[in-house]
Amino acid sequence: MGAQQVAERFTELYGTAPQGVWAAPGRVNLIGEHTDYNDGFVMPFALPHQVIAAVSGRDDGVVRLHSADVEDGVAELSLDALAPQSDREWTAYPAGVVWALRQAGHEVTGADIHLSSTVPTGAGLSSSAAVEVVIALALNDLYGLGLQRWQLARLCQRAENVYVGVPTGIMDQTASACCESGHALFLDTRDLSQQHIPFDLAAEGLRLLVVDTRVKHAHSGGEYGKRRAGCEKGAALLGVDALRDVPYAELDAALARLGDEEEVIRLVRHVVTEDHRVERVVGLLRSGEIRAIGPVLTEGHASLRDDFRVSCPELDLVVGTALANGALGARMTGGGFGGSAVVLAAATDVDTLTKAVEEAFAAAGFTTPRVFEAVPSPGARRVE
Ligand code: ADP
Ligand code: MG
Repeated sequence: MGAQQVAERFTELYGTAPQGVWAAPGRVNLIGEHTDYNDGFVMPFALPHQVIAAVSGRDDGVVRLHSADVEDGVAELSLDALAPQSDREWTAYPAGVVWALRQAGHEVTGADIHLSSTVPTGAGLSSSAAVEVVIALALNDLYGLGLQRWQLARLCQRAENVYVGVPTGIMDQTASACCESGHALFLDTRDLSQQHIPFDLAAEGLRLLVVDTRVKHAHSGGEYGKRRAGCEKGAALLGVDALRDVPYAELDAALARLGDEEEVIRLVRHVVTEDHRVERVVGLLRSGEIRAIGPVLTEGHASLRDDFRVSCPELDLVVGTALANGALGARMTGGGFGGSAVVLAAATDVDTLTKAVEEAFAAAGFTTPRVFEAVPSPGARRVE
């Protein structure tokens, strides 16, 4: 699927050629998990998988939406009727972006949209953010709104939080909107300051594999809410705005102050050590020691499994099997309870390792996982 094909399909659907074609990628988070709602650090990079959207503006208050990936006709919505949580279909994501732009005072008077995606959905690779960002960028260009990337990301987050009704941090949308090819994005979720950190795996003979377990355990939504509330409680007990404000050097003292709050202690320990791990990875990549990030990734997995308790048997099996078969490091990525894991390995170990993971899944009676290589790719852009 290329830009040309998406444009041609648009023309078939709507009778005229699109005014432009835009693309926005999914993302994978290298390190920095469950830190984004604690004002902390994350480090995603963009995947080669992306949503491509052909879009034209309209001036009659109508939005028409079509996805090549959904078996459905063209949906037609009226701008006046857009209301938060009024839509349970996929159309809520692009419509939410139109709503968020208009709410922020930007004059968007309608659109015709056709999109097609190679980002696996529900695998923790942010297909939803890619859909939002591609639409936001297209409308920003078509309506000459002059918004910056980080502003588009904020509006997309608002679309997902308020319009769709899914609580998420700012990482996914920022990654899709702002990442650069060959780099990971070191993002401070408090002030949205960004640094693009060179992450050239191939030059070191390394590969980063994404293993999509293809499971999503049903209770994940409620568990996310509980972790978030627990982190807020920890911050309140420690008298800080967010757990980001607990310095790593003062972690032991902070934990001691939490007394017998067992659960809060575990959550705080994960968040504070995870922020520190992001900083360690940034330092290692800056000094060209890519291989040395492996153990830090693996440490992050142990913390998510034992302290934050968001892993699951499938994710633990990927990590355990990968490490037993030569991986330099491995961890679950994304919110947890299913979704994907990342594995850092020498290029020469990739085949054996992939086979070992597939065999381990078969032996455990799990669904066959999907394994692919993640090459740090460009963020959202106009492609035609
Ligand atoms: P993730 O972002 O981890 O892939 P989400 O549950 O946040 O998972 O978002 C997935 C949802 O995003 C899908 O259920 C669908 O509503 C919407 N979506 C993603 N990709 C597409 C697509 N190509 N066409 C239509 N809707 C899509
Ligand atoms: Mg999502």
